Amino acid sequence: MCDRRHPFSLRSLTLCILAGTALAGSPNLAMMSGYSPRAAEEERGIEERFQRMVSPEEIAKFHRYLTAEPHPAGSPRNNELARWVADQWREQGLEDVTIHEYDVLNSTPREISLEMIHPALFRASLREDPYDVDPDTKHSGVSGAYLGYSASGEVTAPVVYAHSGNPEDYEYLRKRGINVRGKIVLVRYSNPYSYRGFKALTAERLGVAALLIYSDPAEDGFRRGQVYPDGPWGPESHIQRGAITYDFLEPGDPLTPGWASVPGAKRIPPEQAISLPKIMAVPLSWRDAKPLLANLDGPVAPDAWQGGLPLKYRLGGKRVRVHLKVDMNTSVQPYYVTEARIRGGDSPDQWVIAGNHRDAWVFGGVDPSSGTAAMLELTRNLGALLRQGIRPKRTLVFCSWDGEEYALTGSTEWGEEYADELKKKTVAYINVDEATSGKNFQGEAVGSLAPLLVEVSRTLPTPSGKSLYEEWRVSRQVELHAAQPVPDSGPVDTRIGSGSDHTVFLNFLGIPTIGLTFEGPYGVYHSMYDDFYWMNHFGDPGYHYHALMTQLWGLVALRLANAEILPFDFDSYGANLRKFIAELDETSHVSAHVPLGPLEQHVAEFQAAGRELNHAVTEAIASGRLDRAAATRTNEAIIRAERNWCTPQGIPGRPWFKHSLYAARYTYDHLELPGLTEAAEAGDWQTASEQAKIIEEALAKNTALLRQAKLTLDLAWKKGK
Ligand SMILES: [Zn+2]
Repeated sequence: MCDRRHPFSLRSLTLCILAGTALAGSPNLAMMSGYSPRAAEEERGIEERFQRMVSPEEIAKFHRYLTAEPHPAGSPRNNELARWVADQWREQGLEDVTIHEYDVLNSTPREISLEMIHPALFRASLREDPYDVDPDTKHSGVSGAYLGYSASGEVTAPVVYAHSGNPEDYEYLRKRGINVRGKIVLVRYSNPYSYRGFKALTAERLGVAALLIYSDPAEDGFRRGQVYPDGPWGPESHIQRGAITYDFLEPGDPLTPGWASVPGAKRIPPEQAISLPKIMAVPLSWRDAKPLLANLDGPVAPDAWQGGLPLKYRLGGKRVRVHLKVDMNTSVQPYYVTEARIRGGDSPDQWVIAGNHRDAWVFGGVDPSSGTAAMLELTRNLGALLRQGIRPKRTLVFCSWDGEEYALTGSTEWGEEYADELKKKTVAYINVDEATSGKNFQGEAVGSLAPLLVEVSRTLPTPSGKSLYEEWRVSRQVELHAAQPVPDSGPVDTRIGSGSDHTVFLNFLGIPTIGLTFEGPYGVYHSMYDDFYWMNHFGDPGYHYHALMTQLWGLVALRLANAEILPFDFDSYGANLRKFIAELDETSHVSAHVPLGPLEQHVAEFQAAGRELNHAVTEAIASGRLDRAAATRTNEAIIRAERNWCTPQGIPGRPWFKHSLYAARYTYDHLELPGLTEAAEAGDWQTASEQAKIIEEALAKNTALLRQAKLTLDLAWKKGK
């Protein structure tokens, strides 16, 4: 999975605008934060060597191997790939290659059937059509339609159409006198997008008997453009599989909430697991949904609910009756996280972690094998550098996660198992889920790492010859529907939701995260057609954007691993927080109930301390008299800062989510200042006031930390003057 907040946005516009922009200045003259001129020169040499070694042909080979067979979590093929990745890493010369086993609740279909029994007989195929041009689509191991962690059962009931299945949709139905209790509800995936697990929970709470989620051609099919195998959009039979886990309440194995599911771990009974759905749910292609939609009775649905099929969408409720049977095998199975390292030569106990999930709903052309192929090319070249005697200063850790698609499972269990050590040692986590479904770069980072991402993007040329930075600014402008080019700091998305493996790092451990992806027209997400053929014809023919992703991922990791002073910018973090507070006040009118002055004052002080630390770092590095002990102490303080945003009790109602600045909504959408925001939206001003205090305390703690770090630096180089 991947956070699909802007799943099928208006990307085609981007290219037209790009043609008119110019590349400003020579990117190689850009400064390098956290490096002295001499260190920067050395680093540039390493980075250029690394960049030149990245090979699209090698990435294509990895990609072909990874996408040769379906490999969902818990399948023999995915387990075999865990060992294959380990073998690759050993051959590439990586160190400490380990396979971690977690015994977790997995969910696969035994039997699923859906028939309309009135007013006409129709049996849904629940399968995707093979195509001769793409032999992979004839693979016997491709599953039919299912949603991970659906409940099992059997029901015959009338069908109601509920648009996207969000709360406001049910509210509309209620006002029209349409009761959904005991009914089978048919909803579409997007418009606006919300995570399918949120749709399931919403339906479950309303007493819906079963949920059918279909892909409407208005969102990812023929209404968007040419469909597979002639284009990138979804054909009539494509099915978006996925899990419906309530992992926005608590991710990871549902039976070991908050602790690692190592073999033999304590487990709670499934009835007590808050992240397990109690509702049956099945995904449908539009071809299977169409006969149901065409026969619905009742009032015509509102304009916004009309979809891309040539028929009048109605609300239904009486005439169409269907019989649904879902029999899932939900049982404990081993998942495997493969890990390897390149130990740091200077500071082996400071870790920069890079990760990507390995499990796919089917072949995983984009999601996630584009990311896995890029990661293997990244490690191949870093291994080659190591053989040439180039070892990073800090330790690089690489992880191939398992079961991301089910509940962000592998990364969560690993994060829970090694929580204490990770909190002590980790500098940052860099996640790549879908490396490439097109050419439009999206980069997200916590506020303190946003400037680093901009800095690195300036040094990388894209296949068009422009810098990544220039292309990124334009695609971001299009995405935001902005009239002006976004400002220098603008292209980074500092609002981080959930839906991928960064979640345990940011929200549970308080580790700063960066997320990287290239997007494009992509209508086959989680279907059988997301495969090697699709990638080679539509997503990234020639694998040039995979290569660019590998270079970017590598440069960000190396920059963090080799810096004298870690390139974090807390002035930028403060500026982002200021924005978050202003926007929250605008939408929820907090200041009418809770004075925001003290919070704003704390942010201002934190931002000023960040600015002063930036200045001190520049001066100390320029002096040439920065000693190792002072640098180490400063870096340790920088590493601690993100941890300070976390509280042991977590946010109200969701104690697993410890971060006071970042969390995700139930839809997976980003949610800043979560405790304060949710309390304000609920009109609970007592809690809002308490939550504001918690953020103020964290700000005060970090302001003191940054001031101390600045003092340490100043003393270190000024004393000899
Ligand atoms: Zn994914």
